[in-house]
Amino acid sequence: MPHPSDADDLFALPQIEGGAPKGGFPHPEMLPTVAYQLVHDELLLDGVSRMNLATFCTTWVDDQARRLMNESLDKNIVDKDEYPQTAELETRCVRMLADLWHSPDPAGTRGTSTTGSSEAAMLGGLAAKFRWRAKGGKGIPNFVCGPVQVCWEKFARYFDVEIRQVPLRGDRLTMHPDDLATYCDENTIMVVPTFGQTFTGLFEDVAGISNALDELQAKTGLDIPIHVDAASGGFLAPFTAPELVWDFRLPRVKSINASGHKTGLAPLGVGWAIWREATDLPDELVFNVDYLGGNMATFNLNFSRPGGQVVTSYYEFIRLGRFGFTRVQRAVYAVAEQLARGIEKLGPFELIHAGDPLKGIAAVSWRMTGEQTFNLYDLSDRLRTRGWLVAAYPLPADRQDETIMRVLVRHGFSYDMADLLLADMVRALEQLDKHPPSTSLTREESGSFTHSATPKVSTAEIRKRRAKRSA
Ligand SMILES: *Cc1c(COP(=O)(O)O)cnc(C)c1O
Repeated sequence: MPHPSDADDLFALPQIEGGAPKGGFPHPEMLPTVAYQLVHDELLLDGVSRMNLATFCTTWVDDQARRLMNESLDKNIVDKDEYPQTAELETRCVRMLADLWHSPDPAGTRGTSTTGSSEAAMLGGLAAKFRWRAKGGKGIPNFVCGPVQVCWEKFARYFDVEIRQVPLRGDRLTMHPDDLATYCDENTIMVVPTFGQTFTGLFEDVAGISNALDELQAKTGLDIPIHVDAASGGFLAPFTAPELVWDFRLPRVKSINASGHKTGLAPLGVGWAIWREATDLPDELVFNVDYLGGNMATFNLNFSRPGGQVVTSYYEFIRLGRFGFTRVQRAVYAVAEQLARGIEKLGPFELIHAGDPLKGIAAVSWRMTGEQTFNLYDLSDRLRTRGWLVAAYPLPADRQDETIMRVLVRHGFSYDMADLLLADMVRALEQLDKHPPSTSLTREESGSFTHSATPKVSTAEIRKRRAKRSA
C-alpha cells in the first residue's frame, strides 16, 4: 500500500474504506490521524454530557483543571515515593475534608481518595465489618439502609454482608428512624443513611437516625455505628445548609464517603472515604508503601490509579475555598429551584423534591398526576429527540408501582439551559397530548435508567398492580 501523504484526503484513504475494526484484535496498523478520526466520529453518537441531566457527575471543568489533568496524565497515585507531591496533595485534601465534615481530629484522622464513592463505600463497609468482628461479632453480618445506590448491593454481595433495606412506608420517601429497632440486631455492623438519595435527591435524616440508634442502645446495649453515604450531599450541605447536622458532629458517624467527581467539581474518577478518627479504620485494612524512604499507609481496592483527579480536587478546593464553593453551590440550587417552579407550572406534575438545599441535593424530582394518555417514559423519550437525557424510573420498594422523573442540576447548568429545557418540555407535552402514543413505552423500551439495581418486582407484576388499583 502506498504511504499516504499530507495531500491525501482523510476520507478517501483505503483504511477509512474498510471501517473501524470491530471483531478480533486487528492485524494492520493505521495512521494516528485515521484512527483518531474513526474513534472521534463514532463518539459523535454519544449524548452531549452537559445535556445529560441523569448524571450526578461533573460535566464542566475550567481550563486550568483541564491543564492539570493533562499534566498529571502520566502519574500513578500509588507511586508515593516517585510522586511525593501528588501524595502530599492527597493528604492535604483528606485533612481539608475531615475539617469540612467536622472530624474531632482533622489533622490526625485517616482517609483516602478512591476511584469514586463506590470504592469509598466498600472501604467504609469493610472497616465497619472488621470493627464488628474485633468486638466479638459472629454469624452473618448485616447492615441496615433505606433506598440505596447500587454500590451498597454490590458491597453486600461481594463481601458477604446481608443488606437489610427498609422498605418505604407511608408518604415518606426516606428511611424512617422508627423502623431501625425492627431491623437492627447484634450482627448489624452499621446503618447507612444516604445523604442525597439517588432516586429523589432527598437527604435522609442522619441526626434522626442517630437519635433512634441512641435510644436503641439505651434499651438494648447495641452500639451501632453509622456510615454516611454523602456521595452528592457531602460537597453541598457544608456550604449551602451548614446548620444541617449529618456529619462527624454526630459521634455515631464513624465514616463518610463522597464523590469528588460529583458535587466536588473534580473530573471523573475520584471519590473520598474519611474516618472520624484514626482508630475507626482498623489496622488490618491498611497496607504500607514506600514513601520518601519511609512508609505511607494505603487502603484501596485498586493499586494503580490516575493522580490527576486528586491534583484537580486540590486545585478546586484552594481555588474556590469555602466562599467560592458556597457561591457555586448556591447558584446551582437557585437554578434547580427555578426549574422546579417551571416544572410545577407545566401541569400534570407533582414535585417530590424542588431543589430545597435544606431537604436534598440540587435536583428536581417529580411524579405525574391524574390520568394521562402517556407516561414519563414517553416524555423522557420525546425529550431525547432534542438531546436532553432525563431519567424516568420506578421508585424503590415498596413503592415500585410509581414512576418518577429526575433532573440533576450541576455546575455549568445555567438559567438559560433550564429555560431551554422547560420550553422543550412544553413542546413535548403538547405533542404527546396531540398524538398520544397508542401503547406507552415501558421502562426497558425507553432506555431510561436509574442508578439502582433493577427493581425486585417485574414490570408484569407492576402492570397487574396498577390495573387492580384502577379497577
Ligand atoms: C453516585 C452515588 C454512588 C456511587 O458513586 P460513584 O462515585 O459513582 O462510584 C453511591 N451512592 C450515592 C448516593 C450516589 O449518588
